[in-house]
Formats: sequence, structure tokens, C-alpha cells
Amino acid sequence: MAGGHERRMKALKEVWRRAENSLCADCGKPDPDWASSTLGVFICLSCSGIHRNIPSISKVKSLKMDHWDDAQVQFLAKHGNAVTKATYEAHIPIYYYQPTYNDCQVLREQWIRAKYERKEFTEPGKQLPYSDGVKEGILWKRGRDNGQFLPRKFLLSEREGCLKYFTKQDAKEPKINVKIDVINATFQPAKIGNPNGLQITYLKDNKTRNIFVYHESGKEVVDWYNAIRSVQFHYLKVAFPIASDNEIKNRLTRNFLKEGYMEKTGPKQREAFKKRWFTLDHRRLMYFKDPLDAFAKGEVFVGSRENGYSVQKGLPSGTQGNFSWPYGLTIVTPDREYLFTCETETDQLDWITAFTSIINQAMTPQEYAIEAYFKFKS
Ligand SMILES: [Zn+2]
Repeated sequence: MAGGHERRMKALKEVWRRAENSLCADCGKPDPDWASSTLGVFICLSCSGIHRNIPSISKVKSLKMDHWDDAQVQFLAKHGNAVTKATYEAHIPIYYYQPTYNDCQVLREQWIRAKYERKEFTEPGKQLPYSDGVKEGILWKRGRDNGQFLPRKFLLSEREGCLKYFTKQDAKEPKINVKIDVINATFQPAKIGNPNGLQITYLKDNKTRNIFVYHESGKEVVDWYNAIRSVQFHYLKVAFPIASDNEIKNRLTRNFLKEGYMEKTGPKQREAFKKRWFTLDHRRLMYFKDPLDAFAKGEVFVGSRENGYSVQKGLPSGTQGNFSWPYGLTIVTPDREYLFTCETETDQLDWITAFTSIINQAMTPQEYAIEAYFKFKS
């Protein structure tokens, strides 16, 4: 019956148009055009694909192409993103990482499963696999020089405030023992070549060391990630008792602002440009021969505009043409100019945007200390 269909579609559109339903319930992407008829949430195409993998909990339909009956429309009207979030996101620990649409599949999938399948956040004070302050288990770790992944025992301890790993199952002494506040963890599936690939970096003598791990289970590797964030949160809470929870949350693991290949030249700017892998981790620009190198070949500190740092499109006039990529960029620091070239214009503009975002931020007292260390070293 055409009349009934039109009435239903009109009712569906009204619910769909509500402000609370204008972003995907799971990743925040604007203009979702799918919905779960059993959970009552509006979601994007990509999240709908994840929902399809948990059919006992979520049945997804296209808001544009599928048929909706009266009961389903009423269900959506009664629920929607705000009501559903109030149930499934009622008690998310503050340190728990909530992914966005830019994040990798494993983070987005486990977020959806944690919410709706495992119902991790529906009750307060639930004992969660990452909330104990201690986690022990095996992760596959990439060998430093041979690139081979081997199982290693990892131990995370809130009481000791550290992360350790052991080379042998029964080893008493850990191979590394790193303080939790110098650790960063970020998912890097493409770089590591595994959908559950996690990069853990830490500072040793103010130098960055990378280790690369994964676990076959997406849940397990995301549990490790949130366990690291949990331990960091509680450690920083004690170390900075006057900081607000939100200030502390912003100091937990961070994603890199940008990564990729550029060419660089040396301080005299007469040598040939060399292709290197660059990682911009907040104010640290590191470069590597290979993306999976354990140590950076070099690092550049990128301060703020007030302190004499700027980024410019192009290379200084008169730069010798010892480079093969056409899109130049120059970073000016109080001490010297750093010259880079990018393969594409998009890359060049992305790097300029990333550098500009940190140059425009004022430096914190800790960052002045890092800057002083970099000056002392060079
Ligand atoms: Zn989504």
C-alpha cells in the first residue's frame, strides 16, 4: 500500500533528521545512512559492516534502500543514538580509547563489540580486562634486527609503574623495564603488516626506541592498549594530583600527527637529499631509514612560533638540485633551516598542516626542557 509506505518513510526521516542522529553512534562520522533495527542506533556504512559480524545482537538496514516496517520505525523513534548511548556508554572508564572514523579497523571493531556484545560499559565498576592495574601475557614481538616476530612475555604493572618484557618464558630478568610515563602506544597495522599491529615507543636517554607487537586476537591487543592507558592514567593521577581528569586523559597514548617518506639534506645543505621515513610525534620529528627501525637516525624538535619556529612551502632560493622530489618544504628553527622534499603536492600540504598545528600551540614547561636537551645535543 503506497500510502502506508509514504507515511512510514516520512516518520523514518523525521527520526533520522534529529540532531542526536546526525553523527554515527559508533565513530562520529557525519550523515549516517544505516541503522541497527535491534539496537536503535544510526551508524555509518563502515560501522554497519562491523555490526553485520554480530548478527545475534545487531541487525542492520539501509535507511535509504531497505524496507522498514512500522514497529521498526517506532523502535528507532523510541531509541536513537542518545538513548542507546545512555545505556551502552553509561560507564566508560575515562582512560578508555574511543575511536573515530580515522582509526583502524581493530580499534573500531573492538569498540563496537565492547559496547554491544560484551556490554563492558553498562554497569559501574565492572571488572574489565584492562582495569586491574596489572596485565601479563604473550605478544608477538618483531625482532630488533632480523624482523622476525617471536612470542614474548609482557608484564604491565601499575604498582611498579612500568612495562616489561622477557626474552625467555622463564627468564627472571626482563629484557626491558620501562617507566609507564615515557611509553606511547599507537596502532600501526599498515606499517607493521598485521591488522592487530601495535607500535610501542619509549624514551631511553631521551632517544626514541620502537617496538612492534601484535596478538592474533583483536580483543586481546586492544585490551593491552587500554591497560597501558589505564596504568598511565593512574600513574599520572598520583604524579600530578592537581591536574583534572581531562588534562590527564590528554597525556595518555597519542597517535602520530603524520608519517611518511620525505627526502632530507644535511646541515650544510650541499649533500644530496636522502629518502627517509618521517614520524611526527607531537613536537618530535623523527626520521628512520626503514619505517620498522628500532631507533631513529635523527630527531628534530619543532617548537612554537613565539620561539622562532616556522614552516615554509618550498626550498630557499639557490638550493642545489640534488633531490628527486619536486615539492619542497623548509622548517626554520632558531638554530638552522631543515630542508625537505615531498613526492606529491598532497603530501607537502599534509606535512605543512601537521607542522603548522604544533607550531601554533604554545609550549609547555616540559617542552622547554625537551627543547633545551635537543639544543645541548646538537
Ligand atoms: Zn561509524
